[in-house]
Amino acid sequence: MRVYNFAAGPSTLPLNVLEEAKKEFLDFGGTGMSVTEISHRDKAYMAVVSEAENLVRELLKVPEDYCVIFVQGGASTQFAAVPLNLMHNGVADYIVTGNFAKKAWQEGKLYGTANKIGDSSDRTYTYIPNVHKLSYTEGADYVHITSNNTIFGSRYSEFPDCKAPLVADMSSEIFSRETDVSKFGVIYAGAQKNLAPAGVTIVIAKRSLIGEPLNICPTMLRWKVQDENGSLYNTPPAFSIYMANLVLRNLKANGGVKEIQRINEYKAGLLYDFIDNSPLYKNNVLPEFRSIMNVPFVTGNEELDAKFVAEAKKAGLVSLKGHRLVGGMRASIYNAMPVEGVKALIEFMKKFELENKTTV
Ligand SMILES: *Cc1c(COP(=O)(O)O)cnc(C)c1O
Repeated sequence: MRVYNFAAGPSTLPLNVLEEAKKEFLDFGGTGMSVTEISHRDKAYMAVVSEAENLVRELLKVPEDYCVIFVQGGASTQFAAVPLNLMHNGVADYIVTGNFAKKAWQEGKLYGTANKIGDSSDRTYTYIPNVHKLSYTEGADYVHITSNNTIFGSRYSEFPDCKAPLVADMSSEIFSRETDVSKFGVIYAGAQKNLAPAGVTIVIAKRSLIGEPLNICPTMLRWKVQDENGSLYNTPPAFSIYMANLVLRNLKANGGVKEIQRINEYKAGLLYDFIDNSPLYKNNVLPEFRSIMNVPFVTGNEELDAKFVAEAKKAGLVSLKGHRLVGGMRASIYNAMPVEGVKALIEFMKKFELENKTTV
């Protein structure tokens, strides 16, 4: 039986996409081979990579002068690739709004001066600092942000309007809301949250910024090299790109990013409304900055939280345990989580609340 999977990543994928991949798993496009067996230089496979690239361009309205590449190593490898491709003056700004933002900043420090110009750790990352009041460094090579904080459940409601190119880790929200790509120098995202199985990371970068990586930049991390080779400089994560392509086709067929944003806002609205009106559950993120992808909540009683997670699992609602840094619960409600999944969660929360009223 399929469950409703609220995992933060790897995470749920659209059921029809999984079924399609299953149907053609042994014979991909009439080749008599699985997509996991075919050469990445085979025309049938190369068509997948270019279709996926074109779908990313179309769905996010990526401007012509940006590259779209598929790389390996997860978003964490991009924490190093960002400075290695962009840090010509040896200085960059970082806004630290969560655990991944902090890791990106720490990685940046390995290659130059990484100024932490904003930090919301004082209130356990439950807000985003006012982007109009930060002291951006004159001459910085870039400003790095994490647009959606997967662990703490916050996200930018407005993006910095800085002089230096804006670099965004969008791992846990890419394709979830409309994005003006032209406002960013670079966007990157690991696929396993909102797009595909783990293994592939998308990088969207303005070509004029990536022409001269630092000398020490490994060839594999040079976005320019990946761009010039159409993401086929070496063997790509072939199956993950294939799955990403199916997910993107599915997104397009269902109305694209604008439509999924509407649905995501509806789903998140249902859940936040319920939590805010509940005597038992609490979400601590400032409403303006609440993520529509990751919704952490607590009962205020650790034992009760553990009981919630265990009983939810029995009810077919799995992976609701919060990240160890936050505790409590977290419902990741990515694009592929159906409205019915969120409604089932709320029904369960209601029932649990009634049954456990006296405990708190
Ligand atoms: C999951 C995640 C990462 C880490 O991704 P990996 O692919 O595991 O390296 C980085 N940033 C954000 C925002 C994430 O959600």
